[in-house]
Parts: sequence; C-alpha cells; structure tokens
Amino acid sequence: MIPFPKCPVCGGEVRTKIVEKLIRGGVNMASVKVEADVCLKCGERMYQKEDIVRFEMIRENLIREDVNSYLEIGRSYQIA
Ligand SMILES: [Zn+2]
Repeated sequence: MIPFPKCPVCGGEVRTKIVEKLIRGGVNMASVKVEADVCLKCGERMYQKEDIVRFEMIRENLIREDVNSYLEIGRSYQIA
C-alpha cells in the first residue's frame, strides 16, 4: 500500500497499523480488520481507496441482510 506522507487533518506523523473498522448498515454492524494509516497525533485513520469501496459493499450487504458469508459474533445494543 502507498502510505500517506502525513495526516491531512493535523499534519502529524502517520504509521501503518492494523485497525478494527466498524461498519453499520441498517440495524446491522460488522467489524473488519484492515490496514490503515493512523495519525500518531490526532488518531485520524486513512484508508486505502479499495478498502473504502469494500466498506461500501459490506454496508450494502448489511442493509440487505445478505450476511450468510459473515461470521456472527454477537448482538449489538443501543443505549439511550
Ligand atoms: Zn492528525
């Protein structure tokens, strides 16, 4: 992957890390482990373009409940 030279938000130094991205689609949620460039100063995460496309696909699958290929790990709750 092509690393971002610096954070576009604060100009801080970035490091490539494996992060857990939470994707919500309708009432469903999915967690995806993905490589992202993370700002060491403000915590901003920068994803690769192809990962953002993948997140959108997952989001659509969640909305349509097309989740047979995903592993169910638990329930999610909303606290008012
Ligand atoms: Zn930053």
